[in-house]
Formats: sequence, structure tokens, C-alpha cells
Amino acid sequence: MVDDFEEQAEAFFATLPALMKDAGRGAEQRVRVLRAAMADAGLVGFGIPEAYGGRTDVVDGPRRFQIAAQGRLPTEDGMLGIGLNMAVPIIMQYGTEELKQYFVRRALRAEDIWCQLYSEPEAGSDLASLRTTAVLDGDEWIVNGQKVWTSGAQHSDMGVLLARTGDEPRNKGISMLLIPMRQPGVEVRPLRQMTGEAEFNEVFFTDARVPRAWVVGEVNDGWRAATGLLAHERSSLGKVGADEKREANVSAAVPVHYLLDIAAKVGKNSDESIRQDLARAYTGEKIMGWIGQRKAHPSIGKLWRTKQARFVASVAAQLALSGAAAHEVSDKDGEFWMYHILNAPRMSLGGGTDEIQKNTIGERALGLPREPN
Ligand SMILES: Cc1cc2nc3c(=O)[nH]c(=O)nc-3n(C[C@H](O)[C@H](O)[C@H](O)COP(=O)(O)OP(=O)(O)OC[C@H]3O[C@@H](n4cnc5c(N)ncnc54)[C@H](O)[C@@H]3O)c2cc1C
Repeated sequence: MVDDFEEQAEAFFATLPALMKDAGRGAEQRVRVLRAAMADAGLVGFGIPEAYGGRTDVVDGPRRFQIAAQGRLPTEDGMLGIGLNMAVPIIMQYGTEELKQYFVRRALRAEDIWCQLYSEPEAGSDLASLRTTAVLDGDEWIVNGQKVWTSGAQHSDMGVLLARTGDEPRNKGISMLLIPMRQPGVEVRPLRQMTGEAEFNEVFFTDARVPRAWVVGEVNDGWRAATGLLAHERSSLGKVGADEKREANVSAAVPVHYLLDIAAKVGKNSDESIRQDLARAYTGEKIMGWIGQRKAHPSIGKLWRTKQARFVASVAAQLALSGAAAHEVSDKDGEFWMYHILNAPRMSLGGGTDEIQKNTIGERALGLPREPN
């Protein structure tokens, strides 16, 4: 066990501003510089064995690291969510020794940025109806088909792909493949959202190739790993909390104190109806905090966070800033709120819709009878 972890972390953060100043401008390049330096300083992969690039000698590492970081990590770190919270845990859980040796260290150092290739135009909530195929040809799988809503595909080096490898119907005959994204058979087309960003993409596979051994779990029995990864996703999305950072592309509720500031600014903090809403938003934020502390089922956390984000955004819209939907270009508050008002609805879909979260709570947490297929 190390006792000087906080000192190690502090030494790293002291060097961080100079490091990032020289890291260039591109987000991908910056995150790779950042993560390589963090890995060299022993600040990644807590709980993952040293053999795969992590460390197991720091008790309660992630929490202690967050405390030490004090919000000083650059925001590019967000593009690693799928790699660190989904790909690494599922490879550690179901991957062969070869896959663990090769991919985990690379993901921790951001040498590979990952995306999740699950949803298809006819297979979202009903994932088992997916149609993308992978056919073995000598030492390679040949992949054909289309995915959609693939977050971050445009930055990704690798994807966790679900493809049909057998003839059996529904959730049989599916395998989980690790596919290199930067190859001629993979075409990524961005989809523009109403916020103006293009966070997610359509991805087309035309005879794309995957090495034969890059399968997680058994061939044709990928459903086990597929649902395992969804559990990791739910749990990372289920971490509740308001996001203090005022940047775009977030999946978090805006802190209520921002609403209070605006209500005061537009002279509506004595309006009875607005005061009710502010009290409700404040109560919601407190409840989110308690859900987080109680480590409730992740679907409960995700549902509550979504509900809170949508409610805060709706109150902000009601406060009818000069900003919000139509704001002056120079109005930074307006820009911020417009983004959050337009962004909040997506939280009801990504990572499983609200209705699917409710089904999950019914079936897995409350033990109710399963929904008919
Ligand atoms: C911001 C964002 C990021 C995303 N990122 C990714 C990603 O990186 N990778 C990826 O693979 N996918 C991603 N997705 C896709 C996401 O997982 C799907 O949108 C989601 O699973 C819903 O699928 P769908 O859009 O096909 O809607 P559908 O499944 O067609 O659902 C339509 C409506 O029917 C309801 N419904 C469907 N089935 C049931 C049921 N059994 N009971 C009750 N109601 C039901 C749904 O709740 C929804 O309201 C992302 C989506 C968003 C919005």
C-alpha cells in the first residue's frame, strides 16, 4: 500500500499546466499526451493489475484521485468514457489473456480511443434484432452492415462491435468483436444534433476486417459480454450529480445554483410559481446526491439524473432569458442555457431509454415478471 499517493498526485498536477500548454490544439492529441503522462505518474487504472498497466496498491484510488484532482483535469478526458468505463472492464471480465495484455494498457494511456458499436437503424432498445454480420475468412472476420448513434466514432481507433456470426435467431449467434476503426472498410458519417454538435455518427462496414482472435467471450455467445458491457454503461451513466463544468457535450444536470442566479438576474426570484419550481429543482438535486451515496441500482440513478436535467432545463427556458433559444452571440449565459435546453432530451435515450430503465428496475430490482418478448 502507498501512503504518499496524494503527494504523487500533487506532483503530477503541478506539472500539468506546462504539459498541456505544449500538448498542441487537437482534442485527440491532447488527451493522448495527458493520459500518457498520467500513466507514467501512476495515476490511471486503479484496481487493474500492474501487468495490464494499472495499479492495485492504492486503496480507494479513484475517489482519492478525484479529490486530489480538484477539477484540474482538462475536459478532453471525456472522450475516453467508453474505453475506460466499458471496453476495459469487459475485456478484463471476458477477454483472453492476449486481449488483456494488448488492449488494456493502450486504453489506459489513450493510445486507443474507443466507441460502442451496438445500435442499428432497426435495433436500438431491441438490440437482439441486430443484422450486421461477421463471417470468418481464414484468420480474419469480414464485417458488413451498419451501426447508428455511435458516439465518438469520429475520434475512435477501436470499436466494441456486436455482429451476427451464427444462424441462430435473436440473441443467439451474436459475437462481440474488437474492430479497428481506421481501415478502408469503415466509413464514419457524422449526424448533426439540434445542439449543433455532431457527437454521434452512422458507421458503415463494407468488408471491414477484424483479426480472428479479437473476440471477447465465446464466438456466437457474445450476448453474455454484450449485456455485461451494458451493465458497466448503466453504472457509469448512473453516477448521479450535477456538473459544475460549463462545457458542452455533457450528460449531467446543471447545478441548481445557476438557476437561482438567473432567477435573481431576471428579477423573478419572488415569483410564486418560479419559487415552487426552484424549490423542486433544489429538492431534486439533494435527492440525486442521496441516491449516489446509497449506491442504488444504476437505472434509478440514470432515470433521476435525466429527470433532473430535463426539469432544470425547462425552468431555465421558462425564466425566458434574453438568451435561451434566441440569444445574442456575445451572451455567454444564453449560449450556455440554449445548449442545455436542447441537450437535455437526449439523456432520455443514450445508454437505454427511460422506458427501458423502468423495465430493468421492474424486472431486476423489484423481481416483477419479465416483459413478454
Ligand atoms: C446521445 C446518444 C448517444 C448514443 N450513443 C450510442 C453509442 O455510442 N453506441 C450505440 O450503440 N448506441 C448509442 N445510442 C443509441 C441508444 O442506445 C438508442 O437510441 C436507444 O437504445 C434507443 O434505441 P432507438 O433509438 O432505436 O429507439 P427505439 O428502441 O426504437 O425506441 C423508440 C421508443 O420506444 C420505446 N420502447 C422501445 N422498446 C420498449 C419496450 N420494450 N418497452 C417500453 N418502451 C419501449 C423507447 O423507450 C422509445 O421511447 C445513443 C443514443 C443517444 C441519444
